[in-house]
Amino acid sequence: MNRTYFIFLLSVFLFAGQLKSEETIWLEDFEEAVQRSKTGNKPLLMVFSGSDWCKPCMILEKTIFNTERFKQFAKDSLVLLKLDFPARKENQPAKEIMAKREAVAEVYNQSGSFPSVIILDGDKKVLGKTGYKKGSVENYIEHLKSFLAGYKYTGDLTQPTLKKYQRKVSLMGSPFEFVVVCEDPEVAAIVLDVAITESERVEKMISSWDENSQTSWINKNAGIQAVKVDDELFQLIKRSLKISDLTDGAFDISFASIDKHWKFDRSMTALPDEVELKKSVALINYKNIVLDEANHTVFLKNKGMKIGFGAIGKGYVADKTAQLMKDMGVKSGMVNAGGDLIAWGNGYGNEKWKVGIADPDKEKGIISWLDIQDMAVVTSGDYERYSMIDGVRYAHIINPKTGYPVTGLKSVTIVCKNAEVADALATSVFVLGQQKGLELINQLRDVECILVNDQNGMVTSKNLILNYITANQ
Ligand code: AMP
Ligand code: MG
Repeated sequence: MNRTYFIFLLSVFLFAGQLKSEETIWLEDFEEAVQRSKTGNKPLLMVFSGSDWCKPCMILEKTIFNTERFKQFAKDSLVLLKLDFPARKENQPAKEIMAKREAVAEVYNQSGSFPSVIILDGDKKVLGKTGYKKGSVENYIEHLKSFLAGYKYTGDLTQPTLKKYQRKVSLMGSPFEFVVVCEDPEVAAIVLDVAITESERVEKMISSWDENSQTSWINKNAGIQAVKVDDELFQLIKRSLKISDLTDGAFDISFASIDKHWKFDRSMTALPDEVELKKSVALINYKNIVLDEANHTVFLKNKGMKIGFGAIGKGYVADKTAQLMKDMGVKSGMVNAGGDLIAWGNGYGNEKWKVGIADPDKEKGIISWLDIQDMAVVTSGDYERYSMIDGVRYAHIINPKTGYPVTGLKSVTIVCKNAEVADALATSVFVLGQQKGLELINQLRDVECILVNDQNGMVTSKNLILNYITANQ
């Protein structure tokens, strides 16, 4: 796990920590805990933690021990003991108390692991050892239970009901929606905060509007010098170039070299100047994006060249945040990054995740839907961003060879495991057109598509089964 991730967690913990008061009793004295374990015939769960320096300890505390689910599990069934080893002077208890904790650590935590979770019986025999583990509360409880054979539970072990928690925000100029299905509102709040903060971070990195983003630095230095970038951006550019190769240049992040000539916010009234446009088109060529693996630099060979991630960035964010949410134990969830959607797990209740395919001609209308599990569904449409000039619709997807918006298709939906790939391919197929686009998708394994052409014909790739909307639905 990286540093930034912990910083997100820390900032949201402060907020989440205020939501509920502690109900479970955590003892602090080893001998007292052993005594209670013996007399009550209950296993003792002992945690060695560093409350003001050990980040995994804080995560364990907030995402496991402080959840309603864990409290419900521990109640009446476990004796809980926390032996804290704070680093800051002001957090340390009296010397004698610290000496006692150290003596216990010398016996039970010789390796000095933090957090260390040890289960003992009333005779101080170790039944099991564990620490922080990625995953859900339920998984953690199952793991603990594996040490507790022979002990009877009096606590309430009924499965808590799953609920759906969602948050909508505006990011990258589009509406984003994050959904988690889980049992605990506090965990949901933390996960949703982390996902949103992560999206904001990626947006800052790839934005070409933000003057200080790494992407803007690359653009400003076009034809001048190579710019050193973070590995994350370097890899994203590398993957973008692979898609360019695969699509014979239909997908090209250097399309942005012409973006000063077009506006797709319905404000344009005349076509751009031919001659000026042609000059900029000459700058579009992904082969002039030079990556230096050894130095991690990016160089745009020609002055005026520009890159932009409009066709792949949202898919990337969707994948990135979905993975983060899964790592935090969310078994079922969804990220909708401005129409670039990825969903995992079993959906909610008895329903699988249902994704509507937008009707290009009707705002909020759908032409069909898909039931999906662990799948991304991404649509590129000419109805999203465009300008009408002399009664003709000029939409935001550009043919890199001509510098003009592509015509022929109204929408392209790609269905595959990975939202980033789906995003890049949706734009690519839009540029390639119906025939070449279908040929490409039919060659790729586990990638399917749905196209709506400008005669309103709907065409799908070989293996896609759709649920059609009939007139009376
Ligand atoms: P999407 O909605 O994913 O199809 O992305 C469309 C956006 O991608 C546009 O608004 C542009 O920012 C960018 N774009 C347009 N044409 C291309 C292209 N040929 N290759 C790569 N990106 C493009
Ligand atoms: Mg795209």
